[in-house]
Amino acid sequence: MSLADAISRLKLRSGVLEPGHVWLVGAGPGDLGCLTLDALSALDQADALVHDALVQPEVLAIAAKAEKFFVGKRGGRLSIPQRDINDLLVRLAQEGRRVVRLKGGHPYVFARGGEEAEALARHGIGYRVVAGVTSAFGGLASAGIPVTMRGTNGAVILATGFAADSDDRPDWATLARTGQPIVIYMGLTHMPATIADLIAGGLAHDTPAALIENATLPGERTFIATLGTLHDAMIREHVVSPALIVIGGIVALRDRLRSGA
Ligand code: SAH
Repeated sequence: MSLADAISRLKLRSGVLEPGHVWLVGAGPGDLGCLTLDALSALDQADALVHDALVQPEVLAIAAKAEKFFVGKRGGRLSIPQRDINDLLVRLAQEGRRVVRLKGGHPYVFARGGEEAEALARHGIGYRVVAGVTSAFGGLASAGIPVTMRGTNGAVILATGFAADSDDRPDWATLARTGQPIVIYMGLTHMPATIADLIAGGLAHDTPAALIENATLPGERTFIATLGTLHDAMIREHVVSPALIVIGGIVALRDRLRSGA
């Protein structure tokens, strides 16, 4: 049975993207293989597609009949304020379009999907959230680092290193004291301050740490360091966004888990 046959035989419940409705869809960390079947169905049905920079061109191409609206960052800055993105989604829905709002990773993980959902709800617009593979989970798998491992960690922390709102800023010292691994999104810009806070919170300089750049994408690079040497590694290797920072004992398992190691 071909893959297409197999998919056509699945009793998918993706449902119909009705005119005037919005689906907030996660595209996963980048690799096409991380797209869910529901995301594919959404892209196939959309006639308006509102997307970010992190979404790959091949994924956009799936939505062949959709008009595309780019609302991501250009040169590190939001090209459009969040409010205008919310208004665009509302307007497209009110025009009776079948709208897909496509975001990298998972739409409810550091992606402002919640704010968009609130705006849609306020206007009485029907919407649905289609989960995506968040980059921490897709990215660590791609880099060969487990998210949890018996005997190493019983929890994992997903944190943002770039909180626009001071209420969202993680209390790094408290997180450090949990002793659990931390995966930091958007962590490059404030890395020195974040590391200083984690060390002040009690994490040792030699805590294993990794940088994963362009996870799951063709240019993926992983650098293994320690908390004390991570910033030097970032500078030396010219690591740029999108990249994840991983801190904790799970990083040290990479070598052990590598096939043939
Ligand atoms: N909603 C997204 C996160 C958006 S915030 C998700 O669930 O993954 C943007 C941050 O995500 C980036 O700064 C980076 O830290 C991380 N990220 C997204 N895609 C990535 C990728 N392919 N490789 C490494 N990090 C990625």
